[in-house]
Amino acid sequence: MPTHDIIIIGSGHNGLVTASYLARTGFKPLVLERREMIGGACVTEEIHPGFRCSTLAQNVGPLSPRIIKDLELERHGLELIQSAVRVFSLNTNGASVGIYEDTKRTVDQLKGVSAKDAHSYPEFISTFARIGRAISPLLTMTPPDIDKPAKSELWSLGKLGWAIRGLGKKDEYRLFRYGPMAVADLAAEWFETEALRATVAARGIFGAFAGPWSAGTSAALLMQAATDGHAIAPSTLVKGGMGALTQALAKAATAAGAEIRTSADVTGVQIKDGQAIGVVLAGGEEISARAVISNADPRATLLKLIDPSELDPSFLTKIRNYRAHGAVAKVNLALSALPTFSGIGNWDAVEKLSGRIHIGPDIDYLERAFDAAKYGDPSPQPYMDITIPSLSDSSMAPNGAHVMSIHAQFAPYQLKTGDWNLRREELGDVVVNTLSNYAANLKELILGRQVITPLDLEKTYGLSGGHIHHGEMSLDQLFAFRPLIGWARYRTPIRGLYLCGAGTHPGGGVTGAPGLNASREIIKDLKRGS
Ligand SMILES: Cc1cc2nc3c(=O)[nH]c(=O)nc-3n(C[C@H](O)[C@H](O)[C@H](O)COP(=O)(O)OP(=O)(O)OC[C@H]3O[C@@H](n4cnc5c(N)ncnc54)[C@H](O)[C@@H]3O)c2cc1C
Repeated sequence: MPTHDIIIIGSGHNGLVTASYLARTGFKPLVLERREMIGGACVTEEIHPGFRCSTLAQNVGPLSPRIIKDLELERHGLELIQSAVRVFSLNTNGASVGIYEDTKRTVDQLKGVSAKDAHSYPEFISTFARIGRAISPLLTMTPPDIDKPAKSELWSLGKLGWAIRGLGKKDEYRLFRYGPMAVADLAAEWFETEALRATVAARGIFGAFAGPWSAGTSAALLMQAATDGHAIAPSTLVKGGMGALTQALAKAATAAGAEIRTSADVTGVQIKDGQAIGVVLAGGEEISARAVISNADPRATLLKLIDPSELDPSFLTKIRNYRAHGAVAKVNLALSALPTFSGIGNWDAVEKLSGRIHIGPDIDYLERAFDAAKYGDPSPQPYMDITIPSLSDSSMAPNGAHVMSIHAQFAPYQLKTGDWNLRREELGDVVVNTLSNYAANLKELILGRQVITPLDLEKTYGLSGGHIHHGEMSLDQLFAFRPLIGWARYRTPIRGLYLCGAGTHPGGGVTGAPGLNASREIIKDLKRGS
């Protein structure tokens, strides 16, 4: 008899969502986390005495409202902070552009930049809201069985098709055209101002090994609209940093009956007659269970934790070809005061800076930043997505001081020369120097600096290839292709071994959707006794 009901490898937010739903159904999951703390990419850590930062992910995806409600996350301590500004795009030699939650405010501000863009913006917003609503059922759907789709799956796909038809010809045409398009083309169809085009295009390349001229980058705008009804990502922080989100999820999971162990590094999944029967930890401890669910990414799970002789050679080849070339670094700064940014007025600077701050003033800048990565070099002038959480959450830094969380792209996992351990500080300098072009007094305010390279993302946080989404979110790795065609339904070729992380549909971002979908499929199997 197994000693445990279900083992979940990893306590990222998706692993904890899966644990909660399983526990609420009466199972007793045991979550095993290799690090000394839970949370995966959603953690808050002290980066300098008195300064706390969301070390990796900084904005919530958004997290599925259904998960917040079902798991009573607010009762378990979750407090979201919604900024009135989605993103403010800085520019050293042109207009800065702000995207507010409120369309009218955005239009009023755009009027000072381009009358044409101010006119186009409301139609842009309403188009993506309509398309997003129509395709949103995709996110909570298990991708269909390609060989033998069940009647219920055909019914769900039919309903989706019906919703898309309901969009009318113009939007339907837009939807099918946009998916494979380069996001630079899409942005240029709607807007003439370079800063606005680049701000829109940034959503298409966030976390991707792709530039705005790469085919298929518009798909990320459609995914964002499906999640949020808006093509441009929101600025939603968690009070106490992203670690407070995973703490609330952990409380929900344990209150429902799950157990969580940290410093429990799983080194292998035990398999007998093609069935997962437990795991082995570093140090040799063996734990048996009815089923094993992995929140680790597909490559880490299937290439590192499974004896290759248990997998079909063609499956192994396909999983080896699953693309996860990380391109993101993180630089977190402890600052003695708020820097002075050029291009924004003084009176409302705090509000403008309280959402996401975009650095990448035109499409060419973003593409050049990617060019470097294609050839194995870090961008000399990276694209950046920045938040200053201490502006809206005083618990993050001492009074008057600030913490700045910088997502920097592109920093390729595979370098042409040198290695990341030797080039870490060079990367930190590039980020700070580039940002100093927009905030001249930045350097003199820096009290502490944390630089996290793609290699650190792999070694410390367990992300294969340093990929922030557990694998590229490109058209060939989405929906029924995530992680592989034929294996997109959270199950693996090993019976009783499942995936529940960002490497499954609908992919990366702090949404909880992969964890929720996986739990539904796993509960079905466990209740059937298969
Ligand atoms: C630098 C960075 C910035 C990001 N920015 C944002 C953002 O602003 N907004 C957004 O929505 N998304 C962002 N993302 C993406 C998002 O955070 C991830 O897609 C998402 O959090 C993945 O969640 P997960 O639960 O699937 O996996 P993870 O959070 O990666 O969790 C997996 C867990 O499994 C554990 N694990 C792995 N192997 C083992 C093992 N052998 N034994 C035991 N435990 C193991 C890991 O330690 C980890 O805790 C960012 C990600 C990164 C890395």
